[in-house]
Amino acid sequence: MSSPALYPLGSLALARGTVDRVTARRLDKDWLDAAWKDPRTRVLVVSDGNALVRDDGDHIELVFVPPDQAPPGTRFLLGQDADGTVYFGVSAPLPAAGDGERAASLREVGALLPDRDAGLLTHAVALANWHDTHTHCPLDGSATVPDPGGHSTTCPVDGSEHFPRTDPAVIMLVTDPDDRCLLARNAAWPGRRVSILAGFVEPGESAEQAVVREVAEETGIIVTSLRYLGSQPWPMPRSLMLGFRAQAPAGQVIAVDKEELAEADWFSREELLAAVQARELALPPSVSIARHIIEDWYGGPLPSTWTPPPR
Ligand SMILES: [Zn+2]
Repeated sequence: MSSPALYPLGSLALARGTVDRVTARRLDKDWLDAAWKDPRTRVLVVSDGNALVRDDGDHIELVFVPPDQAPPGTRFLLGQDADGTVYFGVSAPLPAAGDGERAASLREVGALLPDRDAGLLTHAVALANWHDTHTHCPLDGSATVPDPGGHSTTCPVDGSEHFPRTDPAVIMLVTDPDDRCLLARNAAWPGRRVSILAGFVEPGESAEQAVVREVAEETGIIVTSLRYLGSQPWPMPRSLMLGFRAQAPAGQVIAVDKEELAEADWFSREELLAAVQARELALPPSVSIARHIIEDWYGGPLPSTWTPPPR
């Protein structure tokens, strides 16, 4: 799936899925019923962004159940593997963890799972988040009914169809004329974690316009020369992160918006490495596109990981 020529950022943790989504099967009730009766079919149960994983210390993988052991809950088709195995997701309380198994969040294990499992968990968490929070018709308030494949819902009263929501967000690494990188600490973040700037795309706005607006709002810096880098889903709960580089022409002074940011500053590669090694700063985790964009600018892997707080 990953090709350096196609994806300048390389293999992003949550953009590695390998299972065919078989979109043509989503409304094929006979095929779906047969797949659900097939004992080879695998079901991934997700609850509040968590799933069961099997973790032996060296290797971590998802725990699936056969359909007849899946708990009742909203069901959705995830896809079909090259070997014919069909995967479903179910949004329901997690089954009891067996030996060597535990519940884990996508944020925690998204970068550790193999490609197939990372893709399945990202897809399942995104759909489950949508089903869990979009249960009624926005037009008349009736309870909606999921379609057979679980990728849309229909209102039984007015017939309106509803599709999963994804909110685009931009995330951008800004450099000054000396190729120093702009890093900021969000007022809401714990400890010494810093990252590049990010924000949601507003209605009626392009991604590029959002990059320019967000950087100006948060730091007073006016950027030019935007370059798109790549994207990855971030279903926490429903974002798609669009990565950019941008340049800050000379002669500008950082003016931090204290509502959003605690501080922001320029870092050369040497300054960043020294600050990270001295534990004066912590960088975003490798599951995030932010980490990949920073390392793409830096020119290689950087030490330091930021450990997410326990749920
Ligand atoms: Zn309705």
